[in-house]
Amino acid sequence: MTFSLHGLAVSGGIAIGRAHLISHATLEVAQYQLRERDVAGELERLDRAIATVGEELDALRVEACAPGTPAELSAFVDIHSMLLADPALTDAVRDLIRERRCNAEWAMVQQMQQVVAQFDEFEDAYLRERKHDVVQVVERVLKVLQNKPRKLARRKPVAADDELIVVANDLSPADTIQFKNLKIGGFVTDYGGATSHTAIVARSLAIPAVVGMQHARPLIQDDDLLIVDGTRGVLLVDPDIRILEEYRLRKSALELERSKLKRLKTARATTLDGVEIQLYANIELPQDAEQARDVGADGVGLFRTEFLFMNRDELPDEDEQFEAYRSVVKGLAGKPVTIRTLDIGADKEARALRARSSGDRVSPNPALGLRAIRFCLAEPQVFLAQLRAILRASHYGTIRLLIPMLAHAHEIEQTLAMIETAKAQLREARQKFDERIQVGGMIEIPAAALALGPFLRRLDFLSIGTNDLIQYTLAIDRADGAVAHLYDPLHPAVLRLISLTIQAGERAGLPVAVCGEMAGDPRLARMLVGMGLRQFSMHPAQVLEVKQQIMMADAAQLALRVARIARMDEPEKIREAVEKL
Ligand code: PEP
Ligand code: MG
Repeated sequence: MTFSLHGLAVSGGIAIGRAHLISHATLEVAQYQLRERDVAGELERLDRAIATVGEELDALRVEACAPGTPAELSAFVDIHSMLLADPALTDAVRDLIRERRCNAEWAMVQQMQQVVAQFDEFEDAYLRERKHDVVQVVERVLKVLQNKPRKLARRKPVAADDELIVVANDLSPADTIQFKNLKIGGFVTDYGGATSHTAIVARSLAIPAVVGMQHARPLIQDDDLLIVDGTRGVLLVDPDIRILEEYRLRKSALELERSKLKRLKTARATTLDGVEIQLYANIELPQDAEQARDVGADGVGLFRTEFLFMNRDELPDEDEQFEAYRSVVKGLAGKPVTIRTLDIGADKEARALRARSSGDRVSPNPALGLRAIRFCLAEPQVFLAQLRAILRASHYGTIRLLIPMLAHAHEIEQTLAMIETAKAQLREARQKFDERIQVGGMIEIPAAALALGPFLRRLDFLSIGTNDLIQYTLAIDRADGAVAHLYDPLHPAVLRLISLTIQAGERAGLPVAVCGEMAGDPRLARMLVGMGLRQFSMHPAQVLEVKQQIMMADAAQLALRVARIARMDEPEKIREAVEKL
């Protein structure tokens, strides 16, 4: 039966494919007491189900060995096989059937809860996370016991180009970044806000995504046919053939439009009245540099280096980081690369850093806690290693250092002193670097935008992080779907802070960029040009569409119209006026 669900549109486009459920849910199963004479039969039923799952995993392993299949799939099959064979899971289930006369499904769920509770006790974060694998293995066995349809190997797709669509309760940025190595067509989650880092990674992957769906996960089964409309924030489940055809047409039309935009790759982003705009790319991993080059970006305006630190047990050391930064600089062949120092914390977690500084303390409010530069100043060895790695890479091209989450003058001073220390260490070790490397600050805390003096005096450039600036101005957790309707880039207070920063930069002769998600929204490009913005940084997938908007804009005329908008204080009027631009 066809039905549709609505959520927050966070990454545009259309994906059509089969559901792949990532589960965190405890399963509801029938619970009943067996008669004594049925116990032997129940034990046999359990053994058959376990054997069937074993065979399914073996079949998946064969599939995982096929050329082009990511290594992660094979690792995940191995872990699941190991758990299935582990007596700690299955022997206890047999005992529950034999001694307590529980039916197999009930026994399985009870034991799963026990094992998951043991995993929760582990100190090691990686082991703790393996509880999800336990749940997935138990789900597989339960599906066999309940005769539910399940994915054996990959089912025959409805059409050759159908994709895999991940359906989850929630995904962390660390989960999502792993999709870069897998072929995922799109994803939907029940939780999450519009500028959470999970949504940002979806945009950087250029895959359609809808978050904050609330009830998608329990209503969808593995292998259900899905359409994700990431532009409208709609998910269609089990669509009939006419809807499917309609969406296939829309999808091809979108792809055609995208490919037409490629003509603009080498065009300059110049307005009708001759104002030149720089369009930079935001990247998360070194491999993204290729996309930045492919769309003809003017350089990298934001390299979110924290993603190098995720999904691993050890920190990347100085040499590893140096190689990563150098590969981006080389990939950009002479164009500037803005490398932001570690912005870990809030929703971006790295297990290798979790226990540092805060001990095992859970921050009561991580977005306001020891995040980004605050963390780096509290962990000078981690910070110095990164600074040395960035400085060493600066010998191979143009690098600009960008510092996140600055608010206080003394944080700027401390950071500059750390950069001097890193330089001195390199000089002593006779390592080459760019002595005149530029240092910039993110403006993403309202206090920074309102007290720009030290930033203008001590730094070389500014980059406005609108994602956090909006979060902190409006006191809206950017990752929380429950308040996503209040997260408003056009709130007059937000516009005022952006405008203040651009104007102050212009007066002081300091370049100002916007590198938050607002810069990549083609509907806001003309407004930002009218505010005086000349440098935009966004995901590579958005560069050409924003360029198209800029090429059709008249900067002088927009400046007059935006000045009128700046005097408005009613959000609805502002929205209407921005739409008319
Ligand atoms: C921002 O806050 O706008 C920004 C660009 O940084 P991040 O999204 O990584 O916090
Ligand atoms: Mg930020």
